[in-house]
Amino acid sequence: TAPESTTPPAPSDRILILLKPDAVERRLTGEVLRRIEAKGYEVTALRMLTADPRTLAEHYSEHVSKPFYPSIVQYMTRGPVIAAVVEGERVVEGVRSLMGTTEPTTAAPGTIRGDLGRAWEGPAMENLVHGSDSPASAEREIAIWFPELAAAAS
Ligand code: UDP
Repeated sequence: TAPESTTPPAPSDRILILLKPDAVERRLTGEVLRRIEAKGYEVTALRMLTADPRTLAEHYSEHVSKPFYPSIVQYMTRGPVIAAVVEGERVVEGVRSLMGTTEPTTAAPGTIRGDLGRAWEGPAMENLVHGSDSPASAEREIAIWFPELAAAAS
């Protein structure tokens, strides 16, 4: 009998997430990853490190010139972060939806930031988790945090 389809499955979408220093300090890294895995996504790379300012400037290149940037650096370098690559169909939309909006105080209940975040404990807005905002951002950010996993230049 003929195969049902000769179309290969689309390659998995990917997203870069960061569990920020407040997530590590508050022992919430497992809870955040649990929510992402429970939705059905797969963690395919994971690394704990203390971010250096040069890496952060690349990662947050769109914010480097903003007044709040120094407070982001202070926040993001005060302790280790966990960087991960997560895969699955429409994972960027899915993880952004799980994360909730930027400011935890007003993020919807049920989201990671809405349920667990505390907004302004320090100089920066502390919201536990970063997730790339588009598939293109995801590839750019994966190349920063996991150079060995960067997509081949085409
Ligand atoms: N941030 C901040 N003050 C601001 C705006 C943003 O401290 O006024 C921090 C916050 O931690 C946020 C990060 O900078 O998560 C990046 O901001 P973005 O607007 O890209 O939000 P996100 O995509 O993380 O929701």
